[in-house]
Amino acid sequence: MKHLNRFDNILDLIGKTPMVKLRKMSAVSNTLVYAKMESFNPGQSVKDRIAYHMINRAEMDGKIKKGSTIIEATSGNTGFSVAMISAMKGYKCILTVKDKASEDKIKMIKALGAEVIKCPSSVPGNHPDSYYSRALKLSKEIPDSYYLNQNYDKGNSEAHYLTTGPEVWEQSEGRITHFVAAASTGGTLSGAGKFLKERNPDIQIYGVDSEASILKDFHETGTYSEPKKSSSLEGVGKNIIPANVNFEIIDKFIRVSDRDSSMAARYLARTEGIMAGYSSGAVLAALWQLRSHFSPGDFLVVLFPDHGSRYLTKIYDPEWLRAMGFLNGSQQLTTEKEKIRQ
Ligand code: PMP
Repeated sequence: MKHLNRFDNILDLIGKTPMVKLRKMSAVSNTLVYAKMESFNPGQSVKDRIAYHMINRAEMDGKIKKGSTIIEATSGNTGFSVAMISAMKGYKCILTVKDKASEDKIKMIKALGAEVIKCPSSVPGNHPDSYYSRALKLSKEIPDSYYLNQNYDKGNSEAHYLTTGPEVWEQSEGRITHFVAAASTGGTLSGAGKFLKERNPDIQIYGVDSEASILKDFHETGTYSEPKKSSSLEGVGKNIIPANVNFEIIDKFIRVSDRDSSMAARYLARTEGIMAGYSSGAVLAALWQLRSHFSPGDFLVVLFPDHGSRYLTKIYDPEWLRAMGFLNGSQQLTTEKEKIRQ
């Protein structure tokens, strides 16, 4: 049969993303490291998978119909995916975003016709001005509207159980030993992780957390503590415990700094030609921390959630790096990496 590479609509392109070997990281850790490139989704991020699944489920359950308004609280990527799907399917779309979301992301969402409401990042999750509370309030005020709620709707992790997990298993030909992904809602890690553990319980599932997050501490102590720092990372860490984080299947969390995450993403662009997003840098920085922890023959799969073009005014802007103070202080990561390059 001819392979025409022709599709009925843009949504048919969601998922089945490629995996690419990270040559330098494989050499340094004496393992095989493959990156699952979620920027190859039509909405250019991993979030296409969950937005599509949650909207399809809401349609099947009769919760939305043509003309409905879809509401979501999102740091940007889910917003883009929800806006893209809403445009294609004929829904109105309102997104509440944290004011730290990059301007690039906000402009892209608006280009798809969605309404964007900026909310303060500095308030706790249960504050009336938080992006969660605003989304919930709007869903109560606007008739025929539906709040997707990616943190609590189990359709999020289910999407990864049904698609990301099986793809990773198949692409690694069952050889995967470690799966490493950033955690925010926890959907990627928990859904794909559950599928992989069911296939082989020895597969290690590692989450990457930010300095402003409570996930790592909660995993280790079972107690909730307010985050002590802030973070410029988008899509890494949480100040609430989302229902989509399945702590039981996660073997460990690795905490990374904003600086190391920025430097790792920039390094990736310059050494592998892969221009990935800020959270992909976080995943790579975590792997760097763990580099002596692996055994020869290990098969690591890391998930890169989005593309670097969404962070041109952040990690790919030297002025921003300077303003954040990332170009001063310990150059350990850069220096070590310079060694690899030689
Ligand atoms: N990276 C980016 C850029 C994201 O937008 C997200 C999701 N907010 C993640 C990582 C984390 O994915 P998850 O929500 O599935 O934990």
